[in-house]
Parts: sequence; structure tokens; C-alpha cells
Amino acid sequence: MPGHQPPRGREAGGAREFGGAPGGRGGRFAVLDPATGEPFDEAPDQRPDELDAVVDRARAAWRGWRSDAAARSTALLAAADAVEAAGADLAPLLTREQGKPLTESYAEVARAAARLRYFAGLDPVRVPIADGRPVRSEVRWRPLGPVAAIVPWNFPIQLASAKFAPALAAGNTVVLKPSPFTPLAARLLVSVVAAALPEDVLTVVTGREPLGARLAAHPGIRHVTFTGSIPTGRAVAAGAAASLARVTLELGGNDAAVLLDDVDVERIADRLFWAAFRNCGQVCMAVKRVYAPARLYADVVEALAQRAKSVVVGAGLDPDSRMGPLNNAPQLARVEGCTARALADGARAAAGGHRLDRPGYFFAPTVLADVPSGSPVVVEEQFGPVLPVLPYGNLDEAVAAANATGFGLGGSVWGTDLDRAEAVAGRLECGTAWINHHAELSLAQPFAGTKESGVGVAGGPWGLYGNLQPFVLHRPMEPESGSGSEVEAWR
Ligand code: NAD
Repeated sequence: MPGHQPPRGREAGGAREFGGAPGGRGGRFAVLDPATGEPFDEAPDQRPDELDAVVDRARAAWRGWRSDAAARSTALLAAADAVEAAGADLAPLLTREQGKPLTESYAEVARAAARLRYFAGLDPVRVPIADGRPVRSEVRWRPLGPVAAIVPWNFPIQLASAKFAPALAAGNTVVLKPSPFTPLAARLLVSVVAAALPEDVLTVVTGREPLGARLAAHPGIRHVTFTGSIPTGRAVAAGAAASLARVTLELGGNDAAVLLDDVDVERIADRLFWAAFRNCGQVCMAVKRVYAPARLYADVVEALAQRAKSVVVGAGLDPDSRMGPLNNAPQLARVEGCTARALADGARAAAGGHRLDRPGYFFAPTVLADVPSGSPVVVEEQFGPVLPVLPYGNLDEAVAAANATGFGLGGSVWGTDLDRAEAVAGRLECGTAWINHHAELSLAQPFAGTKESGVGVAGGPWGLYGNLQPFVLHRPMEPESGSGSEVEAWR
């Protein structure tokens, strides 16, 4: 890893590592290659009591960082260039620890750079209050303070940047905690970005629990922005309640794709398949259930199964691989368990249905037919390369089934009559719905799960404002005049 390997101990250019190095404080933990199941490197196992110093430094760095929006923008643009330039180091490391095909890792790096550029160009807008009173009032925006960013292992670079780009652009400082399954690419990313920023504006901490829990509950943190599972999101919100820090939670999903009876199955099959199986199905907004009209059911199952059988599965560093392994052993066990349960309950594996007989965490791309509607693979989040396809008799039943879980992240409707598809999409209980697509996201759009899939809004200007608080300034029109409505003001 020439050029961008984060040094052990204190780093140049503002990235700091607390403890971890041999002879320093704390130990190290092994990082496994999911394509082999074997350790290939290690990361600092930082202790929760190291967080006080990290957060203190983030708070000290905030004073300078918050005060100059133009300098922030310049620094974030430089950081974007640096991330792009480091792509040849970042992408293979990401593939090695996460498992995804190398082309997908490069796409993550490109997205991180694009996101830094996008937020570098966003300014919060001052809003005059026009209510007829003879006073000039204006809403301005202020940053919150040190932000804790806690992210999972499925998109370690993309999700880290989705947290720190808007938070930094808004004038906050950030302490990032990646998943212990994928600490290395995040560390390298932070060392690259932080080199373009003042010292301690962006810091990374790595380690096993309770590091994340203690960071979320740390009294010096003013915003906890978390991406991960619903149960952990609950724990994070409970932890942040102690200091009443703001929380933004981007949580699990169980997105349904509803196929209409005028759908052209062959035409949409590739897109639908990859909407479910990209990143080995480990995408919060993957299609995780398909509802197909009974008349087309056999065709839909067959079209998806054919594609599942023909995917080249292998190590992400192998250029022929279109799908890598699952990221970690617990996730493989989860996927294996919910598939076995569905098969035991009467489902049929139209493709796959089993792990692959090779080292590493590989599972065959699986399409399940005739699945009982209450099966865990339907009502829970499988988060792997297993797709249940369910038949429906009438459309109202399909919409009701799509909405019948506690999840509410995304959803999609597939058909030829776009007006009809739009009307059905409008009935889905989720934050984003697509027609004839799934999980295509613009940097400029709000991203918010409904129901248990999220709290708060990320993405676009909403993501910037999610890292700001309003500050209202009232001034009279003349030096001696009041607003003329003091009495009302105190009512
Ligand atoms: P997870 O909830 O187990 O872990 C997420 C992060 O939280 C990791 O960094 C983990 O170390 C940390 N953590 C664990 N326990 C913690 C605690 N008590 N307090 C604070 N932090 C703690 O999730 P995962 O298994 O890493 O990721 C998969 C989940 O993430 C899936 O449910 C997926 O849908 C979800 N996800 C959601 C989005 C979204 O934008 N909505 C995006 C990607 C992934």
C-alpha cells in the first residue's frame, strides 16, 4: 500500500491515532479477508477511555473550523482531489477487507470524492422572517459541535463520507468510528482527507464494543449520526439521550419490489436482479422481497433464477468476479439460517440455497419460490444474496404486503404504464420509491427512512441542515423602536 498507508502512532496532516501501536496504549485486533476467512492485517483496538482525549481535541479544533466557511469549502475540495488520487490505494484495501468486487470499490471511492465536492459547494441559506412586524428577523445557521459518525461494514468508504462530508461542510468536527469488520479503508480514507484539513477536525477511532456505545453517549458529542441495524440504532439513541445530543439514524430496510401485470419481465430482469444482489445483497436499500402477479410468477422466478445461476462468484480482487463473499462469519450464519428455515417451511430454491464449498464467506446467489409469507426471509432483513419471490392475486394485497413490516426505507414498482406505476408507488410506506429502478440515489436528494428505518434526514441540503441548528436574530428597524408586539411575544 505505497503512498497512503496510515503510519502507526500520530500521523502527519491532522489524522491522529490514539493508542494501538506496539508499545503505545491499547492493543490491536485482526482484520479478516472475507474471501479466505483468514486474517490479513490488524487495526488499533482503542479503549473507550481514550475517547475523552479524542473528543476534547475535536472540540478544540471546532473553534477554528467553524469560523471560516470559505476556508472549509477550499479544504473540502482539496480533500476530494486527494481521495480521488488515492483511489488505487483505497479501492483494493476496501475490497480486501469488505469482499466486494474491485470495480464496486472504485465506485465507492468516486462517490466519496463526489460527495465532498457536493457539500463543499453548499451554503446554508439565511431566511428572513416576514410576518408583517416592523422588525428585521432572520434565521441563520450554526454548527453543532463535535459529531460522532458510526458506520457499518457494507459501504465503509461511501457511508463514512456520507457522514463526515455534510458535517464538516456545516462547520462541525467529526470523530468517525467504522465497523471492526472494516476498519482499514476508513482509517486510510481519514488519513487522506484529514491531511487536507486542520489538525483534529476529522479523526478516526477503531476498536470493538463498547467503543461505539461510549462514543454515542459521550457528553462532548453534540450530534450522533449513525448508520446500521435497527437494534443498534435503538441503543445509540438511548445512549445519546444522556447528553441530549441530536441523533440521525439511518437503519435497516426490507424493501419490496412490486411488479405490475403489464411488466416486461425480460426487459427489467437484469436491473431487478442487480437491485437485489449488488454488493452480495448487503445493501440497506436492496430489493429484499419481490411481489409478482400470479399470472407472471413462474416467468419472474425463472428469469431471476437464470441470472442467479450465471453470476460469477469469487474473490473481489479477481477481475472476473461479479459477486464477492459476504463480509463476515456472523452475517453468513444469518443468511444461511434464514434460508434453511424458509426451505424447511416449504420454500423451493429456484437457484442456490446453500453456502459454497470453499474457504471464505461465500453463499450461492439464491432465489426462493413458494416462500411462506411469514417466513423470516420475508419479514426480516436477510442482508445477503437471497431473494424471496412471492405471488399475489390482486394489487391491493401486494401493496398491503409490501407495507406490512416495521421497515420503511425504500420500495419500487415495475411496469409499462408509468402513470399507473406512479400511483402504486405513491402508496408505498417508505422514504424513497422508484419506478423500474431501485436504489438509484442522487447526492442532491433527501435520504430518510420512515417507520423503524430511520430518524432524521441525510442527503442534499437536508443533510447539511441536519448538521446545523437555527439561530434567530431580531433587530429593530430604528435604534429606539421595539417590535410593536412585545405583549404577544410573551404570551
Ligand atoms: P450494526 O448495527 O451491527 O453496526 C453498525 C455500527 O455500529 C458498527 O460500527 C458497530 O461496530 C457499531 N455498534 C455496534 N454496537 C453498538 C452500540 N451498542 N452502540 C454504538 N455503536 C455500536 O450494523 P452492521 O451489521 O454493521 O450493518 C448492517 C446494518 O446496517 C443493516 O441493518 C443495514 O440495513 C444497515 N444499513 C443501513 C443503511 C441506511 O442508510 N439506512 C445503510 C447501510 C447499512
